[in-house]
Amino acid sequence: MRIIDAHVHLYPPEVGPDPAGWAVAQGEPHWAELCTRRRRDGRPVQTFPTAEQLLRQMDGEQVEKAVLLGWYWEKPATCAWQNRFFADCRKAHPDRFAIFATFHPAAGAAAVRDEIRWARDAGFCGLGELSPHSQHCPVDDPVLAMALELAGEFGLPVNLHVSDPQGKKYPGRAETPLDDFRRLARPFRRTTFILAHWGGGLALLETNPDVRNDLANVVYDTAASPLVCDAQIWRKALDVVPMEKVMFGSDYPLVLYPKTESEPGWRGVLAEIDRAGLSAAEKTQLLAGNAARLLGL
Ligand SMILES: [Zn+2]
Repeated sequence: MRIIDAHVHLYPPEVGPDPAGWAVAQGEPHWAELCTRRRRDGRPVQTFPTAEQLLRQMDGEQVEKAVLLGWYWEKPATCAWQNRFFADCRKAHPDRFAIFATFHPAAGAAAVRDEIRWARDAGFCGLGELSPHSQHCPVDDPVLAMALELAGEFGLPVNLHVSDPQGKKYPGRAETPLDDFRRLARPFRRTTFILAHWGGGLALLETNPDVRNDLANVVYDTAASPLVCDAQIWRKALDVVPMEKVMFGSDYPLVLYPKTESEPGWRGVLAEIDRAGLSAAEKTQLLAGNAARLLGL
């Protein structure tokens, strides 16, 4: 079966040898707190593979394409740096990588507009992963609003990080009130929003007609699902959310089963999906069809 992972993180090779030191030098403490964390047993929450290592692992586990998502950096310069790196990744492997551009509203309206225009022309197919809550930016920020409007005009879906308000507390966790995403999505009807991590549980509230109406231009990805939900989520969510609104994403290179695995990868989560009782049509759409359609892959 064809597999497109719609939520993959990748960093330039200079980050890998000493991610925490890199973050200090770069002035990105929030990323360091989240991504260089260790679990209680001392093992890191994630690894830092290079593009070549990622491709080799995709080959080994039959993942056809990875959608590379930027990070919600605290500095505009780090956003621009990662975007340039992604443009090079796509140039080198246009058949394997699709790319999303990131930005920080603090760069100002003109710079953000220029960066999004540049990204569209450079073949990016979306924006994100953004997190206004982690980027210290109000959800009604005027530069953010301009960017979301422009994303709709350019046909670039916007991936937003959402934490489940009921979820585990961990160092660096940002609170992301679910109502904020209704407020974000409602005014920008031309823009498609991808709410990461099952929308922090918002997906399961789509039985409420008012919520469903507010979220008409919202789809969900399943990033880090095994870390935030038990295996019932696949069937339950697809009973509530129309099947064309859910895209498979892993949050690679996060380790998804830290109790039993110490490396990132897809085998465990794909096996979990296999056991979830989805129809062949649901699996086809979830694992590749929806991403291919929504991102024009
Ligand atoms: Zn996220």
